[in-house]
Amino acid sequence: MKRERPIVAIDGPAGAGKSSVAREVARALGFVLVDTGALYRGLALAAKEREIAWSDGEALGALAAELELRFETHDDGPHLCIEGVDRSADIRQPEVSEGASQVSAHPPVRAALLGVQRALGADGGVVLEGRDIGTVVFPDAEVKVFLTASPEERARRRVQDLAGRGIEADYDAILEAIRTRDARDSGRDIAPLVAADDAVKLDSTELQRDDVVERIVALVRGRM
Ligand code: C5P
Repeated sequence: MKRERPIVAIDGPAGAGKSSVAREVARALGFVLVDTGALYRGLALAAKEREIAWSDGEALGALAAELELRFETHDDGPHLCIEGVDRSADIRQPEVSEGASQVSAHPPVRAALLGVQRALGADGGVVLEGRDIGTVVFPDAEVKVFLTASPEERARRRVQDLAGRGIEADYDAILEAIRTRDARDSGRDIAPLVAADDAVKLDSTELQRDDVVERIVALVRGRM
């Protein structure tokens, strides 16, 4: 079925600037923004609070199927609500980043969250940011972008971002964590972090955020 308004998939590794780029693209186009990483983060946080191990794929899959994960729209972007409670700040803790990466490697988790993501994007007029939107969640997305940046640049941005939220972080530890997550996200068997063949690849190490946003908005307008 042809959608009236396009689906925009923005994939790439942690810290490539996806979140802020996706937020600005959605704002410029008047589209809904879906931060799919927040779903994995929310699951990791909820599992920890229920004392379900991040290694227990079956239990995590069952939790993902029953947990109420919902987004609320705010000026600073979508806020994740778990069982009706806004947990958008809690899911940004570095420990939860690590948990999200671990839980996302389990096939039952990905299967459960696939339906959630498809439901959120099905009507179009939406920007989804994640890792496998253009390859798995919406392989028929009208616009696909794969956004990257060097690990060092991504670590620098993450430290700055965390500082802005009042969380103190060590550059070397963040860089190490980024490398570990990259290896796990790219190396996993299911939905690894790779660019779709038909994705437009943008490297944000040298590009200003506004340039990246402008390019993506132009791509989308070209498809409308
Ligand atoms: O983007 P963010 O850093 O919030 O994502 C947290 C983790 O969730 C990532 O490290 C990745 O392992 C996982 N993820 C995923 N597929 C997505 C989005 C995020 O596997 N579509």
